[in-house]
Amino acid sequence: MWLDALTDLFFPPRCAECDAPGSVVCDACLRQLPLIDRESACPRCGAPVIHDSCGCSECAGRSFSFSGCRCVGLLRPGLSDMVTVYKDGGEHRLAPVISALMVECLGQWLQWAESIVPVPPRPGAMSTRGFDHMRAIARHVARETGLPIQTVLVARTVADQRTLGREDRLANTVGRYEMRRDAKVSGRLLVLDDVFTTGATLEACSLALLAAGASEVRGCTVARATDVAVS
Ligand SMILES: [Zn+2]
Ligand SMILES: [Zn+2]
Repeated sequence: MWLDALTDLFFPPRCAECDAPGSVVCDACLRQLPLIDRESACPRCGAPVIHDSCGCSECAGRSFSFSGCRCVGLLRPGLSDMVTVYKDGGEHRLAPVISALMVECLGQWLQWAESIVPVPPRPGAMSTRGFDHMRAIARHVARETGLPIQTVLVARTVADQRTLGREDRLANTVGRYEMRRDAKVSGRLLVLDDVFTTGATLEACSLALLAAGASEVRGCTVARATDVAVS
């Protein structure tokens, strides 16, 4: 598209990870992404699981209303910069790169899903960032997969999650998302978000969607924050 060509001309792309010129993510950095192996990841919370008799230490003892989650990779250098440069740096050209990674990560879940639902930006984020970053990614996922997008959720004002600890985050997020007025949903919904930290955001979205008529909700995020040491 001519607009893309103009953007590239006046704002030459640089790699979000290593700053090399030429593309928004260079081939070398793409090859080194800290991807999570979906075959061995926890199907409930998307964490990389070190298999032992105890199962997943990230979500053991917790109950979620969503039935599963997949995460592209670990929230650590190699992927975290990509998320930050896209979300806070406004590098829109990363949206198709990130959506392609999500589509690859989702695999057969794309046949399971009937619609995709992007997590909406928190109040005020639109004026700070100037764009709805998950909706932009969802549009690319929709284009690649043919799945319809349902922008049915809205975020309510609460404290910034990033300043809170795990317990406070969970409490802070209950009721944080609600359905748009008169919005209805049904069937199997796939919620897309940027980072899975405690699962609180996905849980709040899932509760709202299930209460509004969804039959089942799963999630997919770009990155997974984890305490698990993975070599
Ligand atoms: Zn690079
Ligand atoms: Zn888990």
